[in-house]
Amino acid sequence: MKRLEIMTNLGAVALLTAALAMAGAIPAGADYPGAARPDVGPRLVVVLVHDQFRADYLERFRPCFGGGGFVRLIDGGARFTQCHIPYVPTTTGPGHATLATGAAPDGHGIVGNDWFDRAEGAQVACDEDGRTQPVPQGAARSGSPVRLRAQTVGDGLRGATLGAGKVLGISEKPRAAILSAGHRATAAYWLDEKTGLMQTSSYYMEQLPAWAAAANAARRPEAAAATPWTPLLPARAYRGTDAAAALDEPAFSHALRGPGAPRGTEGLNALTQSPWALARLYDFARQAVIGERLGEDDTPDLLFLSVSVTDRVGHRFGPNSPEVLDLAARADRELARFLDFLDARVGGRYTVVLCADHAAGDMSSRGRGWASASGDSAGAVTDSAFRAWVDGTVRDAFGGPGQPAAAAPSFLAGLGDATLWLDPAALATAGVTPAQAAAALSDPARAAPWLAAARTPEQLTRGGALSPVEERLRRGYYPGRSGDVMWALRPYCYAGGADAHGEHGSPYPYDTHVPLVLYGWGVRTGVYRQSVSTTDVAPTVAEILGIDAPAQCEGRALGEALRLPAWR
Ligand SMILES: [Zn+2]
Repeated sequence: MKRLEIMTNLGAVALLTAALAMAGAIPAGADYPGAARPDVGPRLVVVLVHDQFRADYLERFRPCFGGGGFVRLIDGGARFTQCHIPYVPTTTGPGHATLATGAAPDGHGIVGNDWFDRAEGAQVACDEDGRTQPVPQGAARSGSPVRLRAQTVGDGLRGATLGAGKVLGISEKPRAAILSAGHRATAAYWLDEKTGLMQTSSYYMEQLPAWAAAANAARRPEAAAATPWTPLLPARAYRGTDAAAALDEPAFSHALRGPGAPRGTEGLNALTQSPWALARLYDFARQAVIGERLGEDDTPDLLFLSVSVTDRVGHRFGPNSPEVLDLAARADRELARFLDFLDARVGGRYTVVLCADHAAGDMSSRGRGWASASGDSAGAVTDSAFRAWVDGTVRDAFGGPGQPAAAAPSFLAGLGDATLWLDPAALATAGVTPAQAAAALSDPARAAPWLAAARTPEQLTRGGALSPVEERLRRGYYPGRSGDVMWALRPYCYAGGADAHGEHGSPYPYDTHVPLVLYGWGVRTGVYRQSVSTTDVAPTVAEILGIDAPAQCEGRALGEALRLPAWR
């Protein structure tokens, strides 16, 4: 009724309201035109993202699920069995930006979790914004969506409802909360890594709302650390997982503090890698729904809830570990509680979209042994190996001065996810331009054994036929932000440290294949086996909400899985 309030003649208001009520056009209490049919519209859409969650977890782990969580969504909703990410890098920042915008990095500009910014001369994080401060004061991290170059579906809802519909992003990771909620979000909340409490930034507000402060006060992280993480299920449930422990023993026990805690995982860090994180996140989400009164009126609200602990546990133990199974079983119980909670508060007027920002491959030596081709290069590719390949290739191609001096500057200015930046000044000392160097690096004859493809932006965007890997490189390229060469590693190679058991980032199905399940209001139950994309999530949510798809969206609304009122 806000727009009517500007009419000062109360008699005129009463007359108009009565006339509209008689016409049946605008029910009392409706605060935007889209709510004209309150008997049928959705009141809340929850996009539930599991960070690093493989599509096959829903099937492989099904015997370990109860009936009220994942199984309720799968059997009662619309499950897409072939949802893939259409770009590289398959990492968290780009993943959430794509789910929210319906664009790939070539549209939304989030080309990695961080990248080398030429103007700033430094590596920048995708959610970094030096003009914002942490809230509350003293919290670990600030941030905003200032580097996101596209509209989100949440931005669209805010615009369509003139701010009446609320949009929240909640995650342990700031980039997941910030990028999914978007530019006009009501708020984004993430884990304060100093204290284990939830924080936000001055981009959204000057101080935490009372409900958030109360939720923080009610759950001090120290209390959770006293008990170790042990298996939820009977030992037989973990058969077939890749555990070092004997199968008739409890499969694992991870102390979260004290002498038994694994090195480097003490204290808060251990808590973020344990089921404690899951319970805390869902608890905060419930308090947000209550505190912000999400789903209480006929103007729809949107909640992006992103579970990060699945990624941390996946990296540490690997997709075939008993820990990942155990965490999925616990995530299932938390989801069941959350669905019960939504039933009680919102009734049948909510929709849940279950998806992931990326999947993961088993990069343990055993996992790679099963998966990689015989004799193939597999495993970790260190930054120094990359640098040696860049410098060696350029010197080799342009007849550099034999053995370079030990102090010779590297030609590599920065290494990103799926891209690299050359150093023009260093190249100039060798008489080579960046374009010449990029051409040499993209020559297949000069590829390192661990390299699947290296391509210049020009090669990717000039319009010729592209291989599936090249197509994913093209959609991961954003002019002015990506580097001089886009690259992809061979299957089961991964960039970075040597110790990973689960890794992701590649253009291969083990990283691109993610779950997608729609459930609740507006959804047509079924199993859908056609190929769909994570760019289809945002336009589908927009269709359920009855608003336009985000401006830069390239996906499509999955209409085959929707059952919307005929007047839509
Ligand atoms: Zn990850």
